[in-house]
Amino acid sequence: MEELNVFAMAQRQFDESARILELDNSIRGVLRVPKREIVVNIPVRMDDGTLRIFLGFRVQYNDAKGPTKGGIRFHPLETIDTVRALAAWMTWKCAVVDIPLGGAKGGIICDPKVLSQGELERLSRGYVQAVWPLIGPEKDIPAPDVYTNPQIMAWMMDEYSRLSGMNQFGVITGKPLQVGGTKGRIDATARGGMFALREAAEVLGLELEKATVAVQGFGNAGYYAAHLCRDMFGSRIVAVSDSGGGAYNKEGLLPEALYEYKAKSATVSGFPECRQISNEELLELDVDVLIPAALENVINEENSCRINARIVAELANGPTTPEADSVLHERGVHVIPDFLCNAGGVTVSYFEMVQNFSMYYWEEEEINLQLDKKMTAAYHSVYNASREMGIHMRHAAYVVSVKRVIEAMKLRGWI
Ligand code: NAD
Repeated sequence: MEELNVFAMAQRQFDESARILELDNSIRGVLRVPKREIVVNIPVRMDDGTLRIFLGFRVQYNDAKGPTKGGIRFHPLETIDTVRALAAWMTWKCAVVDIPLGGAKGGIICDPKVLSQGELERLSRGYVQAVWPLIGPEKDIPAPDVYTNPQIMAWMMDEYSRLSGMNQFGVITGKPLQVGGTKGRIDATARGGMFALREAAEVLGLELEKATVAVQGFGNAGYYAAHLCRDMFGSRIVAVSDSGGGAYNKEGLLPEALYEYKAKSATVSGFPECRQISNEELLELDVDVLIPAALENVINEENSCRINARIVAELANGPTTPEADSVLHERGVHVIPDFLCNAGGVTVSYFEMVQNFSMYYWEEEEINLQLDKKMTAAYHSVYNASREMGIHMRHAAYVVSVKRVIEAMKLRGWI
């Protein structure tokens, strides 16, 4: 069924921007499919002595603006279409923050939870051995994503360096600090989203120090969003949730206390002095700011008419369906679209590469300052396009990004 295919959804979003920009068919044709797809079978010696084959992908969507960049996911339900869609979104994400990179994504079908550390290391190194002629600091730079982490990035960087016969820190980002990682990466996605939220609040005249906030998802993006929203603006976090359910207290919640509670109880649901709420209820709360930071398609045709927030800051990828976008727009809900709102992660990854190349490492203040500049400029380029063209923020984000990629392709003589 086409609706369930995430790549079909990414293509539909692109087609809409192509329609708005009145792109001719040949340009549309180039941009609605990936430039290169790599499919690899990775043999891995398991701890019990058997040899198992794992299927892996790397999709390099478009490199007009620079080498491609995007995470590697380890997931039992990984599909080439998910990787294609995410590679497309990486292209638009790098373009919207105007960093000199294109978009890519990778994945391996595996369940990392049942693999030993040794098996995980051999799988990570095996993936690099399979794709290494086609990746590299000047070609394609992977990073962590779902169920991959700094340790896996360190193994992958080491394998690539071993194969090249020299240290190649710039081949991968999201590395541990001791081997070429950057300060500020851990909360970069949420912090970038907060800079965009601050700008959105300013143009809408919303006072964030008095604002109420609900956050769906309490992992890396959601926890730091809740923490920073309180820390940077003094906003009141009234509700958070995770896969186990949600906690609501209209007087406000302390994200750090919730974090400790979740570490012991595995969920925020049941946090003392709170009303337990479902994820569905959380989305429909009467709050100023709603931050989806968990899953795709949670704001959809069915519930979009009941979203009461003034601003939806999408830290998750793909939380709002195209049908819901139109409803939110008609109802005056201001959406900061995903590939703009969550671009802080790739922006700081780009700073990691810059530091690797220059062999000089920045202080965290410098990282945050440069991130602020990038996110603020990106937000206003999208907001201005939305105002000038009378289109909603997601279409505007596409228009800004697609135009930038097309400009690079034209200058290079590709189209
Ligand atoms: P994570 O694994 O750290 O956290 C995910 C959170 O979502 C967990 O708290 C989990 O309990 C919750 N969750 C899972 N199923 C749920 C459900 N059915 N209902 C409610 N909550 C549920 O992941 P993350 O890194 O925080 O990523 C979250 C989203 O942000 C994803 O869409 C991801 O693609 C996007 N994102 C993250 C980054 C990053 O740097 N971490 C960058 C860009 C985009």
